Amino acid sequence: MFITDIRTTTVAVPLEAPLLHANGAHWGRFVRTIVELETDDGLVGLGEMGGGGEGAEIAFAGLRSYLLGHNPFELEGLRFKICNPTASLYTNRTQLHAAIEFACLDIIGQKLGVPVYDLLGGKLRNEVNFASYLFFRYANPETGRGEVRTAEQLVEHAKELKERHGFSTHKLKGGVYPPEHELIVYQSLAETLPQDTLRYDPNAALSVEESVRFGNAIKGLNNDYFEDPTWGLQGLKAVRERVHLPIATNTVVVDFEQLATNILDRSADVILLDTTFWGGIRPCVKAAGVCETFQLGISIHSSGELGIQLATMLQLGAVLPNLTYAADAHYHHLTDDIVAGGRFCYVNGAIEVPNDPGLGIRLDRDKVERYAELYNEVGGYPYDRDPGRPGWFPLVPKQQWSDPGRSVIPPLG
Ligand SMILES: [Mg+2]
Repeated sequence: MFITDIRTTTVAVPLEAPLLHANGAHWGRFVRTIVELETDDGLVGLGEMGGGGEGAEIAFAGLRSYLLGHNPFELEGLRFKICNPTASLYTNRTQLHAAIEFACLDIIGQKLGVPVYDLLGGKLRNEVNFASYLFFRYANPETGRGEVRTAEQLVEHAKELKERHGFSTHKLKGGVYPPEHELIVYQSLAETLPQDTLRYDPNAALSVEESVRFGNAIKGLNNDYFEDPTWGLQGLKAVRERVHLPIATNTVVVDFEQLATNILDRSADVILLDTTFWGGIRPCVKAAGVCETFQLGISIHSSGELGIQLATMLQLGAVLPNLTYAADAHYHHLTDDIVAGGRFCYVNGAIEVPNDPGLGIRLDRDKVERYAELYNEVGGYPYDRDPGRPGWFPLVPKQQWSDPGRSVIPPLG
């Protein structure tokens, strides 16, 4: 069996409302590039990569000659063809490789008639638990609804999501408003949902000193962990020494070199595995094995997914013995998806692992067409800019916070 074609389609799928983060925002949609690999026996494997739009399509097209004729079973060969570590100094293709690895695993599963989890050691659980992933949000400029800015709004939003999807873990994405405002919001959340576990993630916006202050103030709450309060392995290490909370990261341990460094000189206790950032599902399984050996915690990170990437997170979550924390997903902020059968459902805060061969999902061609048209209409957006703060860009540590006293409805962008 060999690869005969690679097709890419960029889609924009609307979010309920723009999602704010320390560096800017998701401007009301996710832009994702869908990858389809076709084989000589007519199988089609699916992959997905974030952002990029036309740039991503060109980058995948640039790998065409590497892929045509390649046997999708030869995953290690694929890794060195695309991500040879010394060549990577000039050509960092980790995220492209991830999308292609997803599609190859999908093809292998379909060929053998087994779900991807059976290729990775077998399923240990039937569903994967998720956290609510709470964002500060601008109101949707079209509807005027969906704003999350104050403690009251955030708590209301969390209660509504808990009611609708059954979450019992809540992650607050912070780093938007001044730490003292976000502390009040987080404390309000803890007070409202005392049985549930929490995590706070300001995307490394705080200084070491602000992190220590914030960490000590939340110490008595039901925290899973304190995620990337500050930037860098040394920054996290300094915080970890002064705050008695498990420190988690998805920013500075995203490859095996960094994982080794973190084992020899610990900065983070919990490693958030991202099927895109780590270059595929299989590197995440390997990293989880290293974490098991060295007794680091793991969770599953979300870099903003549609159904294909969500399926990779579910297949991964199914096979990891040491997955004790709820995974993250932006998924419930979406208004739709491009997979057949509609959006995945949360039941009691969990999503069932697909059992069909391969990744277990198929495309809804009408939806792909509709959202490819939407992408052509509205285009991409700069992830590291804020539509409500023209001209602004963040420093690290962050120094110019958004104003929690001011309701902003950004222009349609
Ligand atoms: Mg994070």
